[in-house]
Amino acid sequence: MKPILETLKTYVNLPSGSFDKALSTTLSEKISEDLSALGFEVTAHEGALHGPTLVAAWGQGARKLMLMGHYDTVFPENISQPFQLVDDTRATGSGVTDMKGGIALMVHALKAVLPKVDAQAYSIVCVLNADEEVGSGESRGYILDNAKKSFAALSFEPGHDGAMTIERKGVTCFEINATGIGGHAGADYKKGGSAIQELLNKLQQIYALRDDSKDISVNIGVISGGTADNVLAHEAYARGEVRSYDPAEMDKLHQQLKAICAAPGLPGAATVLTFKASHPPCKKTEASMQLFAVAKGIGKSLGLSPYLLSTGGASDIAFAAQANIPVLDGLGMEGGGVHTTEEYVNLEKVDIQLELAKQLLLKLLS
Ligand SMILES: [Zn+2]
Repeated sequence: MKPILETLKTYVNLPSGSFDKALSTTLSEKISEDLSALGFEVTAHEGALHGPTLVAAWGQGARKLMLMGHYDTVFPENISQPFQLVDDTRATGSGVTDMKGGIALMVHALKAVLPKVDAQAYSIVCVLNADEEVGSGESRGYILDNAKKSFAALSFEPGHDGAMTIERKGVTCFEINATGIGGHAGADYKKGGSAIQELLNKLQQIYALRDDSKDISVNIGVISGGTADNVLAHEAYARGEVRSYDPAEMDKLHQQLKAICAAPGLPGAATVLTFKASHPPCKKTEASMQLFAVAKGIGKSLGLSPYLLSTGGASDIAFAAQANIPVLDGLGMEGGGVHTTEEYVNLEKVDIQLELAKQLLLKLLS
């Protein structure tokens, strides 16, 4: 097996669900070891709920490039799948594409490129976190802080057919707890509002915030409440999220959600809104377009057809973009079935993705 696949196998076989802190820490130690072997000085910033955020520094130069990746997966240990080489074209395993593949690619691209980089003129910082899949609450500060000291940020989230990303939607998750007047469904129904009815009224108004002309999406993903057919619901609960490419629209959505939930409803019923995990939008900028143009030129010379993909999926690149530096995402391995137990990586593309990463690093670091 190629060295890069050996690395990938090692990473995948160390499960790292976002909330498996001890296991994630074990993987972080392996990644630290690999980066240290390349001459990086690695600091592990201990998290409360998740594995540490690794900040790995190389070189003394003033022009600093940031590389990003998350080493957590959505799979708790009990459903995490080991690395399996299916054939020459495909390997499966949890996180094999999203995004342990990206981290393996980053490590091997650095290994090839570092001997050619002037450490007095340039420097590199890799920020690798263990809570991306649950909103990056513990790591976002490290990402932004390091982005502020960098001239650009590259992220190794999965790539698809040469697609790269400089624009991503922001997402805000929320939950709504509704209370109403419980009682007998036959005898007490005139006394006041049921929590379920109140919640449904609010949710209909929230669904109406969807605006396809502005690419604003709304989803209610979880709903529950009540106890029996013949009981007026005293409590009900829903969880959902809203997404937009535009920071101003995200602010507006937050205000609209608050207003909907605060407005008076059925007698005796109320809803309480709580905002949960969020990622800001990553807005397309001219500087990011120029960074993409560099990657596109390299990709074309390698026979790829790189194109820009705007995606509704949030990612940590948005925190780097808040530092007003050019960003580029989607440099990782190509595969499919991410966030499912069918996740696979396309092995036929690994060499070319690695070559693209190497040439891009060299271009930006010389
Ligand atoms: Zn990912």
